[in-house]
Amino acid sequence: MLQFRVETADPDQTAEWGRLLAGVLRPGDLIRLDGPLGAGKTTLVRAIAEGLGADPRDVSSPTFVLANEYRLPPANHLVHIDAYRIGTDDLDTLGWDRFAPDDLIIIEWAERIADALPADAPHLAIEVSGEHARAIDVTLPDTWRARPDLERLGADLLRCPKTDLVVSPADPFYPFASERARMADLHTWITGGYRLERPIEPDDLA
Ligand code: ADP
Ligand code: MG
Repeated sequence: MLQFRVETADPDQTAEWGRLLAGVLRPGDLIRLDGPLGAGKTTLVRAIAEGLGADPRDVSSPTFVLANEYRLPPANHLVHIDAYRIGTDDLDTLGWDRFAPDDLIIIEWAERIADALPADAPHLAIEVSGEHARAIDVTLPDTWRARPDLERLGADLLRCPKTDLVVSPADPFYPFASERARMADLHTWITGGYRLERPIEPDDLA
């Protein structure tokens, strides 16, 4: 798992992060989204929809509907489910199986229907840390580490110099993805792979 925390100072920053996230999402993703009332879950989903190029006229509050679908170019949908008022038993009513494999599903209040969702699905938990301050705890499966632009989602994220996978300071071999990658880097160093191909100049030491 890849874990990191994102802090936003106002709704615009949350939306900006949502648009960045949109650039990383792929058809078929299912995202679990949690946080107390007023945390900014719907704000985030709207920004994701916008970042995906959804028609703004489709954007409406899901408070009184179970699932809100945004048409996306070219063919797939963003399905925004608000599980606030539904339980696992009601999922049949929702028509869980009518979603296409290429639909992108974001579930607000996912913890309320946790039993019906894959426990390893990406998870976003928004915490209210001040009047306008929010912290988003992000947990992503390891399979996401290779996705393009993923490192833009967190200030402390880097790509492992050996494997090109995204790593966070919480990872045991940071900035490497694994012990093997760390050893491979050490080997490159010892065998002169990082040698400068020119004499050292005073500016190098400044
Ligand atoms: P939820 O869906 O989690 O109940 P909403 O997105 O509907 O929350 O509402 C969040 C409210 O909090 C909005 O009125 C928004 O303007 C406000 N807000 C204040 N600061 C932030 C922030 N940093 N990120 C997101 N929303 C914020
Ligand atoms: Mg909401």
